[in-house]
Amino acid sequence: MRAGEGVKEYKCTVWSAGAGCHGSCGQKLYVKDGKLIRIEGDENNPWNQGRSCSRALALKQYMYHPDRITTPLKRDGARGEGKFVPISWDEAFDTIERKMKGIREEFGAESILFCQGTGRDVGGPISFLAYSYGSPNWVQLGLSGQSCYTPRLGAMKATFGDFMVADCSQFLEKRYDDPEFEYPEVILVWGQNPPPTCPDGFFGHWIVDCMKKGTQVICVDPRHTWMTTRAKHHLQLRPGTDGALALGMLNVIINEGIYDKEFVAKWCLGFEELKERVQEYSPEKVAGITGVPADTIVSASRTYAKAKNAGGHWGLAVDTAPEGTTVAQAITHLWAITGNIDIPGGSVIARPSHGVTTYPYTTEELVELYGQELVTKLNDKRIGANEYKMVRGFRGWAQPDRAIEACKTGVPYPIKGAWIQTCNPLGGQATRTKYHYEALKGLDFIVAVDLFHNPTTMALADIVLPAATFAEKETFRSWWVPLGVTQKAVQVGECKSDWEINFELAGRLNPEIRQRWGSVRELIDSRLQRAGLTFDKLVEQGSWAMPPDGPFKPYRRHERGLLRHDGVPGFNTPSGKIELYSSVYKGFDIDPLPFYREPVNGPVAKPELAQQYPLTMISGTRNPLFFHSEHRSIPWLREKCPEPLVDIHPDTAKELGIFDGEWVFIENQMGKVKRKASLSKTVKPNMINTEHGWWKPELEGAEPTLFGVWDYQINQLVPGPQDSQSGFGGGQYKVTQVKLTKMPEGGK
Ligand code: SF4
Repeated sequence: MRAGEGVKEYKCTVWSAGAGCHGSCGQKLYVKDGKLIRIEGDENNPWNQGRSCSRALALKQYMYHPDRITTPLKRDGARGEGKFVPISWDEAFDTIERKMKGIREEFGAESILFCQGTGRDVGGPISFLAYSYGSPNWVQLGLSGQSCYTPRLGAMKATFGDFMVADCSQFLEKRYDDPEFEYPEVILVWGQNPPPTCPDGFFGHWIVDCMKKGTQVICVDPRHTWMTTRAKHHLQLRPGTDGALALGMLNVIINEGIYDKEFVAKWCLGFEELKERVQEYSPEKVAGITGVPADTIVSASRTYAKAKNAGGHWGLAVDTAPEGTTVAQAITHLWAITGNIDIPGGSVIARPSHGVTTYPYTTEELVELYGQELVTKLNDKRIGANEYKMVRGFRGWAQPDRAIEACKTGVPYPIKGAWIQTCNPLGGQATRTKYHYEALKGLDFIVAVDLFHNPTTMALADIVLPAATFAEKETFRSWWVPLGVTQKAVQVGECKSDWEINFELAGRLNPEIRQRWGSVRELIDSRLQRAGLTFDKLVEQGSWAMPPDGPFKPYRRHERGLLRHDGVPGFNTPSGKIELYSSVYKGFDIDPLPFYREPVNGPVAKPELAQQYPLTMISGTRNPLFFHSEHRSIPWLREKCPEPLVDIHPDTAKELGIFDGEWVFIENQMGKVKRKASLSKTVKPNMINTEHGWWKPELEGAEPTLFGVWDYQINQLVPGPQDSQSGFGGGQYKVTQVKLTKMPEGGK
């Protein structure tokens, strides 16, 4: 489509509600008479090169959906009755300001939780509001063990002093045509199915692009997927045993001497300690633990280690494994001892583009934004910080399992309110969901910021504020590349951006904010300063900018002194080396070397439980039509997947007398949930696989139905708290023991 004849084109870098994802694709929005008439992938944007997913293409249905919340709402009746009345923004802000100031006065700012779901562009505004208000409790409420990227980020930061991603030329403007780039010989894909997801600043199809050019993939996944069926090696492990497998691969690579000896000698610390530790994990022993044949472990390790250049890509299954921070550490050691660090086609250092912070990932960034004094003060008060040193020292998140327990028990101090922004814990991420429901029901004041009603807004919110999609707001993004902006193309109802809402409130709750910035645009421009850019400049140049040569762009920055603050060659770690024996973990009272432990509720640790509930359930599988608990009301998307399914191996189904397409209960000590049976050999007979985030917008929202959340929300069967000593990782989403029973005839 072309602009003209009353049609205006807006170029945007997506990162927000509407599509819902962590990607940063470029989209072109066509607007006529103030309405979005068409969306197309932007072929000039280096990130996605014109490609789009189904959710992006369904944006119009999302934006103009009849159920969209387009004005602020106040609860009119008891919580859960589903009665709300529209109010003005002034009344909404005045009420919230009065309530939050009152709670801070009486109980302290820490007694309000600032709850977000998966990042998107909300991480910036919500941490901004929490810190402006003075609360240390910014939290991904419900996400047990913070088991989404944080454990992997923690491990990378401890090992390399920086974050890493698989190199698919994404940091280079000319992409695959850049002469510096070399296609990886191998990509090790661990616990993730890239094509249907754009996880954490990474476009899943980049791996497919590389495969088309001859790159081989090694997949670690309990399931068969599109990618495992095209893999050189598929390591189909028992769910939750990722740590043992990584240590087994390290054992092979070290004992066969196929690691990069020169790189290890020059750039790594603690190799001898690691070598000693992995002797406990022979391929034969690991085969017994994981169910992956020893010879497959050996040949996959050889393929990875002997590759000229190999990238490492991974997913949430690493975080949810027991001791996720340690499992992630073991996998980073595979990247390190094979010398695949910051080389073309290897695993490259990833820093927010141009050094611009849009969403603080590290304590350093929080200090830069909010000052050491405030960060230290809040570190001491944060829920979980006194129990887990990693919670105190890394990232500035409250520990989610302890946060919900504080709501119920008042330990370490009473929680009186919650600010819930574009997340739906009851319908999505919350393990032991009934516990979350009861604990949150007891709070004095709850505000939800969202685009549609969902089980969480309906059951809990006193005030609901209407959030904008990416096409309706200004925001910015630097995760990882390009540095991008989203410009506001249309206005829907009275919806506001998360930045606009939080900026207004932060200014009301902390007058200093108004002295520093007069508007969201000023705040954004102040953050873009270090890039020598402004919002308008980025819009002029197509809404994005790639990082210049230097610390934000590969390759071999460790050799060029571009990583350490002192400019000396090396890594940004306490020792300046890659720490295989981690001084940072030691400082967090975590074992400085990787180790393996069985899932706490798994069939090995709890055989009696497995007796009763013999199947291991993995939940959280991605469906390209939905983003977590979103998009079930979008016609184009829902018609393609009208019901929640459960993958059952045909032999298991036969044993239980279950037929394809019939309704079953998935059941355990936590309760039971409905699913439609899908007989499939993608899973092994002793496990089942199902999606999370299911509730039904077409059902009654008021309680007790609550959009069918108690019938379909799978994470209510997942026990808590997290299964990890660091406080991060170990959310039991992929290692829950269950049984299947047939539903009575006609049940649904
Ligand atoms: S999932 Fe990918 S294509 Fe879809 S909106 Fe996100 S980044 Fe764009």
